[in-house]
Amino acid sequence: MKIKERFIFLVCTECKNRNYTTHKRQKAAYKLEKKKYCPFCRHHTDHKERKL
Ligand SMILES: [Zn+2]
Repeated sequence: MKIKERFIFLVCTECKNRNYTTHKRQKAAYKLEKKKYCPFCRHHTDHKERKL
């Protein structure tokens, strides 16, 4: 069985820059939210998923 995946952006919640791309399963119910380093804010911020 083939699992469909789609690419998403991880967007900084402070400056709205799309700093990272990742992918997840198409029918995944959860929302991705990660703490990552933002080079624009120059510190760690919450990053939320955004469709590509
Ligand atoms: Zn930022």
